[in-house]
Amino acid sequence: MVVVGGGITGLSTAFYLKKKAAENGENIKIHVVEKADRFGGKIRTFRRDGFILEEGPDSFLARKEAALQLCRDLGLEVQLTGTNPDARKNYILRKNKLHLMPPGTMLGVPAEITPFARTRLLSPAGKLRAAMDLVLPRGNDEHDESLGLFLRRRFGDELVDHLIEPLLSGIYAGNADLLSLQATFPLFHDLEKKHRSLILGIMKQRKQQRIRQKQIAPDGKSSKHPSMFLALNSGFDTLIKRLTEQLERDGISLISEALVTQVEKLQENGRPHYQIKLTNHNAIRADAVVMAAPAFATQKLLSKLIATEPLSQIPYVSVATVGLAFNKDQIQHPLDGSGFVVPHKENRFITACTWVSSKWPHTTPEGKLLLRCFTGHSGDERHKDLSDEEIVTRVLKDLADIMGISSEPEWTHVSRWNQAMPQYLVDHLSRLGEFESRIKDQLPGIMLTGAGYYGVGVPDCIAQGMQTAEKVLSYLSDEG
Ligand SMILES: Cc1cc2nc3c(=O)[nH]c(=O)nc-3n(C[C@H](O)[C@H](O)[C@H](O)COP(=O)(O)OP(=O)(O)OC[C@H]3O[C@@H](n4cnc5c(N)ncnc54)[C@H](O)[C@@H]3O)c2cc1C
Repeated sequence: MVVVGGGITGLSTAFYLKKKAAENGENIKIHVVEKADRFGGKIRTFRRDGFILEEGPDSFLARKEAALQLCRDLGLEVQLTGTNPDARKNYILRKNKLHLMPPGTMLGVPAEITPFARTRLLSPAGKLRAAMDLVLPRGNDEHDESLGLFLRRRFGDELVDHLIEPLLSGIYAGNADLLSLQATFPLFHDLEKKHRSLILGIMKQRKQQRIRQKQIAPDGKSSKHPSMFLALNSGFDTLIKRLTEQLERDGISLISEALVTQVEKLQENGRPHYQIKLTNHNAIRADAVVMAAPAFATQKLLSKLIATEPLSQIPYVSVATVGLAFNKDQIQHPLDGSGFVVPHKENRFITACTWVSSKWPHTTPEGKLLLRCFTGHSGDERHKDLSDEEIVTRVLKDLADIMGISSEPEWTHVSRWNQAMPQYLVDHLSRLGEFESRIKDQLPGIMLTGAGYYGVGVPDCIAQGMQTAEKVLSYLSDEG
């Protein structure tokens, strides 16, 4: 069988397929085909002068089990590190001033009243409107709706524009008003259904979590303030290195610098096989094909075999990240947190800045500081037309205005991510469900997986890899 795309989803699919097949005493020949000269897709780490700069993801959500599980399976658990406990503050820009993110919010939705009442981030009218969530009735729509419009209905525009949207933007680089509630934050829909008010629902949930934690750790020590995010202290690409080494040991053929250009359906004794054509390599025949490339690439490959319009309704946004290294004495602004996010309404070039050396101290040598800025989101991809130098100039202009940084960094590093962030638009899940049934009927043995479909976070991608491995095994055993 063939996996198209050697990002974290494709590699995890191959890893769990081999593992589960071996547990059943089966042996499957697996090829992973990747167009780039390296594996890992969006996971890429840049090292210079003792710094470790993540160009794509820097960490993963600890509460989503799959990434932790893969690290355990690869013996990488010892390299996992949480965020610096002294840098848990986060800031948000409003009118050129950094405001502390009110503690006790969940993705900007308040779950504690006092810090929310005190914050200067929102006007008194904005706070009152947000508090109306406590009394507003449930919505009566069972269908999918826009995440932004749902949140505006519950909390009003100010909370959404100045708190929730910049946090969401960090995950999807998207426009909340266009994104699907069901595909991005189904939890919000469930909370409204169950508790009517999101604020009351989140408060109740947190109380239950605290009780559960107390039950697990009666001394209150071990799980009192666990880190929400985990990183690998040797760099995120260690995961890819370890994974590809293991796959090679398992006899999986890893083919890089090979663009899959065509998937052909061949009929043999009633059951379909596929011929995978690729550059720089002989074609491969396969009884199952896992499409783990971005949706637009998969669309191109399947368009001669099946109507692929649902895939064209998954647009991708381009973003760039910029690493900036400084000497400690070059920045006077206190870096007493993880960094700040910038609402689109502030009309800045950057959408966020991570104070990397504070958040992840393992990344930065003694006496130095490391920042990482983000640019680009749905509706603003102007960085695509700029040179690296121009991008750095615009980033430095924003940092001068916001943090008062006026000196030149020791070095900078721009990472461009073209068509990188999939946008789950309203009705994403129903369109995808219909498309997958169509594939099952017309192209049995072809499976879709990866960030374009059921979750963009690294743990979601690994979880999809695990599920796809199960699906492939079940398909191959049915077939026999
Ligand atoms: C800047 C940035 C920051 C992020 N930060 C975080 C974070 O902190 N935490 C987090 O959990 N997630 C984060 N994400 C999201 C996460 O990194 C991605 O969603 C995830 O890595 C995607 O993995 P994937 O394997 O599904 O896709 P990809 O990584 O895109 O892999 C797909 C692969 O398919 C290959 N390919 C495409 N077409 C073909 C073809 N025709 N033939 C052969 N190969 C092909 C591509 O070259 C690529 O390697 C971030 C993403 C970006 C861009």
